[in-house]
Amino acid sequence: MVSRVIPVDDFDLVIFGATGDLARRKILPGLYRRFCSGQMPETARIIGAARSEHDDAEFRDVVRAAINEFSKKNDCDDDRIGEFCERIHYVTIDARGEGGWSDLKGLVRSGVVNAYYFSVAPSLFGDLAERLQSHGIADENARIVVEKPFGRDLASAKKLNADLAKHFEETQIYRIDHYLGKETVQNLMAVRFGNILFEPLWNSQYVDHIQITVAETVGVGGRGEYYDKSGAMRDMVQNHLMQLLCLIAMEPPSRFEPDSVRDEKLKVIRALEPVDHHNIVRGQYDATKTEASYREDAGDPKSRTESYIALRCLISNWRWAGTPFYLRTGKKLKARTSEIAVVFKDAPHSIFPEDAGRHANVLVIRLQPNEGMTLQVTIKEPGPGGMRLIDVPLDMSFAEALGEEAEDIPDAYERLIMDVIRGNQTLFMRGDEVEAAWAWTDPLIHGWEARHDVPKTYDAYSSGPEDSSMMLHREGRRWRELKE
Ligand code: NAP
Repeated sequence: MVSRVIPVDDFDLVIFGATGDLARRKILPGLYRRFCSGQMPETARIIGAARSEHDDAEFRDVVRAAINEFSKKNDCDDDRIGEFCERIHYVTIDARGEGGWSDLKGLVRSGVVNAYYFSVAPSLFGDLAERLQSHGIADENARIVVEKPFGRDLASAKKLNADLAKHFEETQIYRIDHYLGKETVQNLMAVRFGNILFEPLWNSQYVDHIQITVAETVGVGGRGEYYDKSGAMRDMVQNHLMQLLCLIAMEPPSRFEPDSVRDEKLKVIRALEPVDHHNIVRGQYDATKTEASYREDAGDPKSRTESYIALRCLISNWRWAGTPFYLRTGKKLKARTSEIAVVFKDAPHSIFPEDAGRHANVLVIRLQPNEGMTLQVTIKEPGPGGMRLIDVPLDMSFAEALGEEAEDIPDAYERLIMDVIRGNQTLFMRGDEVEAAWAWTDPLIHGWEARHDVPKTYDAYSSGPEDSSMMLHREGRRWRELKE
C-alpha cells in the first residue's frame, strides 16, 4: 500500500499566539511533519505572532525546542529542523494594539494562499479579525482558523460569529474541532457510505443503541481554575461528542463536499430532543491517597462543575426514532479511550438451543488509542460440546493494517491545517452548526443550574459515577467496559 502525499499550493500561514501551548505542542510540530513528508511547498512560510518580543532567530529557537520536545524522537533530525526553520518568521503584535501590523503586511505575500490561525483566547478573535481588515492585510481569499472554545453558550457563540462575520465570509472561516481531523472519524464516513454492508442496517430497526465514549485518565491538574468555568458538557460534549454523534447519525450527504456534509450534520443537531434530567448524570472525581479531588484541583471546595457527564439522547427523525444514543466523557477514569460503539439488535429468532447463548453484533470505531475498527460477530465455539456461540472480533487496527505507513498518517492538526490551505471546509464546523449545538446544550445546563444540582462523586480511576451505570441498567443495557 502506498500512501500518497499531495503537495498543497504555496502559502503564508500566520499563527497568532505562536509562542503559546497549542502552537508549540501541536501546530508547529505538525507543520514540521508535513514539511518532512514533502507536502509543504519549498517556498511556503510560517509567520509567528504574539506580544513577546522576538526576532526571527529567537523565534526559530522556540520552534526548534518545540519540535524536539513534542515530536516523536525519530522525526527529529537537526538538519531537517534547520531547513524547516528557514521558512519561519516572527512579528511582535498585540491583538489589541496597532503596533506590528504594518510589519506583518510587509511580510505576507500576495498571490499565495494566506491563512491566519487564531491560536489565542477567543476574546481576541474579534480584535484580530478587525485589525486584519483595517490594516488591509487579509483580502477576500484569505482564510482564518479559530480554535475552541467557540463560545460558552448560545449568546456568546452568536457574538463570536457576528464579530467574525463583520470582516470575513463564512467560506473564509475554519472553526477547528480536532476530533474531525482524526483518521478514524473520516474512516467512519468511508465505512458508512463506501460500503453497501452497513447502511441498510444503520437505523432504529436494526440498531439497539449507540454509545459514544471519550474517557481520559488525567485530571484537570493545573488547568483546574480554567476548567471549572466550563466543565465536561461545555468542554467536550457540545463540540467533540456532538460532532461524533452527527457523523454517526447523519443521512448520507449527496456528495463528500463541505456544505452537503455540514447540512446533514446540522439536521441531526436540530433533531435532538431535549434531555430529561433523569437522563443526565454529572460527576466529580474524588481524592486518592496521593492525589487531589476535583474540587481541590478546581480551587473551589463548593464547585458544582462536572468532570464527568453521561447523557441519554434521542434523535427525532425516521431513521433514529426511539434509538438511544448514550454519551459519556470524563476525567480521571480508569482508561484513556475514545470510541463509538454501534450495538445491533439480536437476530429476530434463534435456531440454536437456549443454552447456546445469544450475542449482539457490535461495530466499534476506536479513536484512541490504537485507531481502528472492530466488528464483533457470533461464531460457533470451536471443538466438540455441541452448538455454543461465542463472540469474536473482526479486527482492523490501522497500525497493523498499514504497517510502517501508519506512522505517516498525519495527526488531526496536520490534516486540518493542510485542509485550510487547500480551502476544504468539510471537516470544519459551520457557524450555524455551532449555534445549533449551543441551542441544544444551553437548556440542559440552565436546567441543572436551576435545580442546584450537585455532581455525584466518583472514585478516581473508576468507570465514573454509579448512577451512570444505573441509567443504562434501567433499560437493560450496560456501558462497554473502559479499557485501553
Ligand atoms: P496560551 O498557552 O495561553 O498561549 C496564548 C498565546 O497567545 C501566546 O502565544 C500569547 O503570547 C498570545 N497572546 C496572548 N495575548 C495576546 C494578545 N493580546 N495579542 C497577541 N497575542 C497574544 O494558550 P493556548 O493553550 O496555546 O491556547 C490558544 C487557543 O487555543 C485558546 O483559544 C485555547 O482555548 C485553544 N486551545 C488550546 C488547546 C491546548 O491544548 N493548549 C487545545 C484546544 C484549544 P504573548 O503572551 O507573548 O502575547
